[in-house]
Amino acid sequence: MNEAQLLDSLKHHFGYTTFRNGQADIIKQVMSGRDCLVLMPTGGGKSLCYQLPATLLDGITIVVSPLISLMKDQVDSLTRQGISAAYVNSSLSTEQVNDIFQRLNAGKIKLLYVAPERLTQHYFLQGLQSLPIKLFAIDEAHCISQWGHDFRRAYTQLGCLKQYFPHIPVMALTATADVTTRKDILNQLGFIDPYVHLDSFDRPNIRFTLAEKYNGQKQILSYIKQRKDDSGIVYCSSRWQVEKLSEFLAKSGVNCAAYHAGMEADIRGVVQDGFTKDNVQVVIATVAFGLGINKLNVRYVIHFEPPRTIESYYQEIGRAGRDGLPAEALFLCDEQDMARIKKRISEHENEQRAQVELQRFQAMTDFVDAQTCRRQVVLNYFAEFTKQRCGNCDICLDPPTEFDATEVAQKVLSCVFRIEQKGDVQYLVTILRGQISPLVQKNGHENVSTFGIGKEKTPSYWFAIIRQLIHLGYLQQDIAQQSHLKLTEAARSVLKAEERLMLASPRLQKASYWRQSSA
Ligand code: ADP
Ligand code: ZN
Repeated sequence: MNEAQLLDSLKHHFGYTTFRNGQADIIKQVMSGRDCLVLMPTGGGKSLCYQLPATLLDGITIVVSPLISLMKDQVDSLTRQGISAAYVNSSLSTEQVNDIFQRLNAGKIKLLYVAPERLTQHYFLQGLQSLPIKLFAIDEAHCISQWGHDFRRAYTQLGCLKQYFPHIPVMALTATADVTTRKDILNQLGFIDPYVHLDSFDRPNIRFTLAEKYNGQKQILSYIKQRKDDSGIVYCSSRWQVEKLSEFLAKSGVNCAAYHAGMEADIRGVVQDGFTKDNVQVVIATVAFGLGINKLNVRYVIHFEPPRTIESYYQEIGRAGRDGLPAEALFLCDEQDMARIKKRISEHENEQRAQVELQRFQAMTDFVDAQTCRRQVVLNYFAEFTKQRCGNCDICLDPPTEFDATEVAQKVLSCVFRIEQKGDVQYLVTILRGQISPLVQKNGHENVSTFGIGKEKTPSYWFAIIRQLIHLGYLQQDIAQQSHLKLTEAARSVLKAEERLMLASPRLQKASYWRQSSA
């Protein structure tokens, strides 16, 4: 299948004249029978990557989708485009399902949307085996990862597709870029030599600003007042806080509205609609405000309280500046907020769950404490490795001083190597500073050559250095393995002294580098 034929079909079925970044390659790969993992931000155009092949393949494409409402929307819109599609889920009667199977047998359906619970049932898979299935597409594939927020048990059973249909390509699609999730998807689906498309998650027009929260309500009020007609969203972590803050802002004359899941659905609808139509300037909300906001000119997103993960932070700020014009993500940081949320997470009744969530929150804490370009921190966290500083974040715009840290970094990285990458940040600092602990003795690490090579510096010095090495992509914390530090490819050239490395001098007073919010 050449590009011209693909373009023809793109035009014919979807009315578009060009492919977006990556779509053409993904489609070519899957048409050649290769498994694909597609990571694209929301709105990037994932659906087309399997819908177009579905129209070209001589048979049926099965789409796994987690939500009944999403299935219905997609099927309706395909039908309107003249592509025959149907869905099977718990809302249908047995007769309706039988009818769909008859249409499938008669070759009258190109795309079939199925919930994972249904698809993984033995009788259903057997039913499919007599049909000409040509492709499986797994939408929202991050639901497979038990470490994620949207975990769905049935997704973990999708590995069976490779047993029932060993020669049929599978395409997994998600907007979650988290590295652990990515590995989980590949492992659990049993992909062999997959084609991986990783879209850039960068949103260069969004300025990252972190500022110390010293009088939160007033800071927000003055920020909003300086931006008279601009639309914005303010995120809080509780309904209570949403109510309190929106009341304060409304009393101070701000055209704002509250939004959280505890409100009546029709009132929420009115708020969302008012915001979309620019009748409401600012929405004060919990995370419940997000899905389905189709508004391009949101000029700022403020975090009044910290999100729990970098994924959710990034998703929330991603609602700003979708028109490509300058926008700002302002994060009001407060040590006490951080401590409170950490405590709340650790109280989760499932201990293993709490551990994983805590590790994710640690990455959020590291982001707040970062002394390196904020955008680099986030992109490297998503393993979109970049050495370029962005010039559009509070650190780049007001940089801390730097020093040649090549030797210091070598100490850290070689220490990670000596302990065979089997320790987290805390443990590494213990080794660097030459401190004996029962765990150190159990591992025999008091005998490695790097034990105590950093004893002249304080623990907070080493934390600051190690954090930067993580943020710059020289080290990664393996969330699935107790946050053990792993050397990345980039670490080699530092270890071999092929690269001179500049780092920010660790600052003594953390608060001093948080600029005020008036930027
Ligand atoms: P995702 O699933 O990645 O969130 P969608 O598949 O819903 O994104 O696509 C987002 C929007 O982009 C849709 O309106 C879709 O029609 C449009 N779109 C997708 N591919 C193209 C293209 N090649 N040219 C123009 N618009 C496209
Ligand atoms: Zn930057």
